[in-house]
Amino acid sequence: MTVSQLVDECHICRRPRVSVSEFCSLHAEAMKNLEDGYEKWRTAFGQEIAREDYFGYLLRLQETGAAVKEVIGYIQRKPSGVA
Ligand SMILES: [Zn+2]
Repeated sequence: MTVSQLVDECHICRRPRVSVSEFCSLHAEAMKNLEDGYEKWRTAFGQEIAREDYFGYLLRLQETGAAVKEVIGYIQRKPSGVA
């Protein structure tokens, strides 16, 4: 079996993914942190904060982890956002 026949791979880095996610454990964790952080942001600043504004803010932050930035890039490339 070649690598291209593997379907259970992370959509971002091609590592084996965890069963409940379309990502590997690293990127699944980053996605969870992203979603949790967005909820906290909306609670703190109000409901009018757009998801894209939140992503843009994180991308400009130096302390945002590389895995989180990769997840944001992946979401932004998807035509319909997060499934
Ligand atoms: Zn991954």
